[in-house]
Formats: sequence, structure tokens, C-alpha cells
Amino acid sequence: LFAGEVEFLKGVVAMSGLPPADRLEVCFAGRSNVGKSSLINALTGRKAIARASNTPGRTQEINFFTAADSHYIVDLPGYGFANAPVAVVEKWQRLLKQYLSGRPTLRRAFVLIDARHGAKKVDEEIMALLDRAAVPFQVVMTKIDKVKKSELDQSLGLTRAALAKHPAAYPELVLTSSEKGDGIETLRAIVAGLS
Ligand code: GDP
Repeated sequence: LFAGEVEFLKGVVAMSGLPPADRLEVCFAGRSNVGKSSLINALTGRKAIARASNTPGRTQEINFFTAADSHYIVDLPGYGFANAPVAVVEKWQRLLKQYLSGRPTLRRAFVLIDARHGAKKVDEEIMALLDRAAVPFQVVMTKIDKVKKSELDQSLGLTRAALAKHPAAYPELVLTSSEKGDGIETLRAIVAGLS
């Protein structure tokens, strides 16, 4: 679906900067270091496509990529800015809320969770935001190549328990490894199947 046709469009810092809502949109959210850039790169078949989002200055922007003229792929920066000033965090949270509740073409959010850890408090916070904005979301477990089956089962258990509290959550999790390629085709098919 996306190979070779994904381009960085723009980083958005205010609602007025959003591109026209003229195509399907999916967004990806996750704590920094969860493997979001790697996953977007694997999904789009492009190396370094999402590196832009991790460069200083882009971490408080909503980053838009165009995919094959039919979709926007939106990279939401890592949340839980532990060291950012309060004003920065508040501005970002305001933008995030406005974006999530004001984007009619946003079909699904993918919340990335590290398979080693399961859902954490900040993940639950973004899930609560998605509930309130009524944006359907699906959890993508990342880095499954790094865990033993018993550890994976444990973090799946934690994550499923967390999801049960969130009405906007899809119950099915997608298990991925950007390193090994697991789950990437599944995720691509999910995105391609949205209408
Ligand atoms: P981001 O901050 O969420 O964009 O995370 P990155 O994509 O930059 O990944 C953070 C670190 O995790 C990097 O060192 C990646 O190489 C590593 N990583 C990402 N995905 C995987 C994966 O599926 N398997 C393994 N083993 N490492 C991964």
C-alpha cells in the first residue's frame, strides 16, 4: 500500500496548521523510545521516514505524512515529557485534545506499547483522551522479539486489563516487531482496510 509513496508533509503546532481533512487519516501515539519511528518506517517500507519526528523541535508537533495520496499517516510525539516545562506540556496537551476531537477523517489511532512493559500510566492517559474524543483506537505491542513468551503473556495481560476500561479500544492487539517484521503486514492490512 505505502511503499515508496510516503512523504513527510508538515509538522503542525496549531489547529490552523492542519492540512485539509480530505482523506483517511490514522495516527500513532506512544511513549518515546517505544519504537514508533521504527514501526512507521517498517509499515511504510521507507527507512528514516519518521526520523523527522524525533528531531529536536519536532517533538511537540503533530507530524503529517502523505501515503499514496489516499491517507495521512500522523505521528504524534512521545507523550509524558518528563523534563519539559509545564507550559510546554500544557500547550501540547491542548493541541492534542483539539486535534483528536476535531478531526473528522481520523479513522483510527494506534497506541504503541512496549511488549516488555505493558500499558503504563501515561498510556492509560492517552487512552482516556481517545475515549473522550471518541477516536477508536487499537493497541500495537512493539518489540515482541525482545521478550520471552512468558513475559509477553504478562504484558498482554496487563494491557488487556487496561483496555477493558476504555470504551474506544478495540479488543484485538497487534503484536509487532519492526526488527523482525512480525505483524507489519497485519497492521498494513488494517490501515488499508479502513474506509
Ligand atoms: P521512538 O522513540 O518511539 O520513535 O523509538 P525508535 O523507533 O527510535 O526505537 C527506539 C529504540 O528501540 C531503537 O534503538 C530501536 O532500534 C529499538 N527498536 C525499535 N523497534 C524495535 C523492535 O521491533 N525490536 C527491537 N529489538 N528493537 C526495536
